[in-house]
Amino acid sequence: MPAEGLVLRGVAITMDPRRPEVEAVGIRGGVIEAVGSAAEACAALGEGVEVVELGGGAALPAFIDAHHHYSLAAFDAGTPDLHLPSGSSIADVLGLVERAVGAGGGDGWLRLQGYDPAKLQEGRGPRVDELDEVCPDRPLLLIAFSFHDGCLNARGLAEMGWDRGSADPPNGRLLRGRGGRLTGEVSEGAFFLAEARSRDSLLVRGEDAWMAACEAHGRALLASGIVRVGDAAVAPAFERLYQRAAADGRLPVIVHQMPVAAASVLEPRFDGEPTGAGDAAAPVGPAKLFMDGAERCALCFSITQLARSGMATLRRAVGGAGLAGLRAGSRVRWKRGRDGLLHSGMLFWDQPTLDAAVSRAGERGLQVAQHAIGNEAIAQAVTALEHSGRALEGLPGRPRLEHTMLLDDALARRIGDAGAIAVVQPYFVYDFLGDAAALTPPPDPIRAKPLRTLLSSGVTLAGSSDYPVSHYDVLAAIQAAVTRRTRHDRVCEPDEALSVEEALRAYTVGGALALGVDHETGTLEPGKRADIVVLSDNPLRIAPDSLTDVRVLRTYTGGRLAYERS
Ligand SMILES: [Zn+2]
Repeated sequence: MPAEGLVLRGVAITMDPRRPEVEAVGIRGGVIEAVGSAAEACAALGEGVEVVELGGGAALPAFIDAHHHYSLAAFDAGTPDLHLPSGSSIADVLGLVERAVGAGGGDGWLRLQGYDPAKLQEGRGPRVDELDEVCPDRPLLLIAFSFHDGCLNARGLAEMGWDRGSADPPNGRLLRGRGGRLTGEVSEGAFFLAEARSRDSLLVRGEDAWMAACEAHGRALLASGIVRVGDAAVAPAFERLYQRAAADGRLPVIVHQMPVAAASVLEPRFDGEPTGAGDAAAPVGPAKLFMDGAERCALCFSITQLARSGMATLRRAVGGAGLAGLRAGSRVRWKRGRDGLLHSGMLFWDQPTLDAAVSRAGERGLQVAQHAIGNEAIAQAVTALEHSGRALEGLPGRPRLEHTMLLDDALARRIGDAGAIAVVQPYFVYDFLGDAAALTPPPDPIRAKPLRTLLSSGVTLAGSSDYPVSHYDVLAAIQAAVTRRTRHDRVCEPDEALSVEEALRAYTVGGALALGVDHETGTLEPGKRADIVVLSDNPLRIAPDSLTDVRVLRTYTGGRLAYERS
């Protein structure tokens, strides 16, 4: 069909500022050939062209999810999902673990992901003794929703060689109870060691299952209008699997692989192919570097800010930032640094080492994506770009900062001046961040998920889900970005809202910039790939509260109809 050509007629939202809305898009040979009136498009494509009427719907550039854990999602697709509603209990989590144990699968590692300690009645996740009751015989890793924390059972701890005498691994923590006994809970560097170990052992016999889940996940993304993602942590074992999936035609969407090391997601990897190289279906993305923890993100405040709000208020307020460890409050420890400022959370790099790493990535032809949630981590990431960013010049895309959740105006301006892209997750506002932040906003001048502040500081936004941390439904994320409404019907920092058009831009042209492919996709313009989503309504013409009622009717990737709603 692409060879003969096709005209989509109705309303097309192009994301091209020169002509933002047109009547028709003509495609042929996988490429957009004409954008304009229906008469112009039909004339350009010639006699006998097939015309698809959009009715009350609209055609847009297909969506891009710039930070999405595709390989891990496919990997954990075979076990029950622990994303439970608020008010569930540890017993509910254990019930699902028991079901997975009962399903068999030998005596090797078992892992399940998605529980949020803050949403459980007990205000904490399960611990080693509780896990042993339902899974005594196999090593078990329970992965928290943030994918930065988890819990092991006794067999899991033994498999890792961890007991009460073990020191905390680098950039990680083994949580301890009375007498220094391990609770099984593992955080950051410790969690990621267990994550890598359990994954490697499961992959040995799970490759075919991964391949099937990879294909199914890609089809689900197409049904949501997503045709391209950045996989934000690809260990070498997954690189090989992606190659196989691409060669076998089992990768329905394009996946940009962002390399990390085999031993731990926290370790960067610069020894592979440069950004943009590799199979067109699964090219190399930017190298991923982690600046700070997730629940233990690196924050810093001045004594003045402290004095203004008082220690108790500050602690509660920062807890209100919605990151589970901080929400618990008691786990937040403030330390006075030599700079006279108060610091909390985990910062993984020192500045000179980070500067050298960014330079080395650039020399290897790798663009960089720095995970930075707290203001201290974001400042460090931006400083590295100021010091070493020249090494990245000429590489595909632009330097990325992942998450950028807690920052002030001055820091937003530094991000803008550094030319970095903020890869943001608006759905977090609805899902877990907004409720806590709405109750107790972070202390002035820090803002939570400051989308408007970033945009007005000249920062390009790229939209993403961080799936499976939160859902990948783009229209729900756009609704959250526009309404700032939370799961519990609160409104979080409403002056940080985006317009629908701005939010759509983040999931189309912004995503293309973040993946270094803005020359080939992200807008509806002649010469670009025909990556197009057809929606049931025009999202610019309906009430933002109705955005989640909009349906994806068709998804085209490279001009091929890859999804059609039945
Ligand atoms: Zn992530």
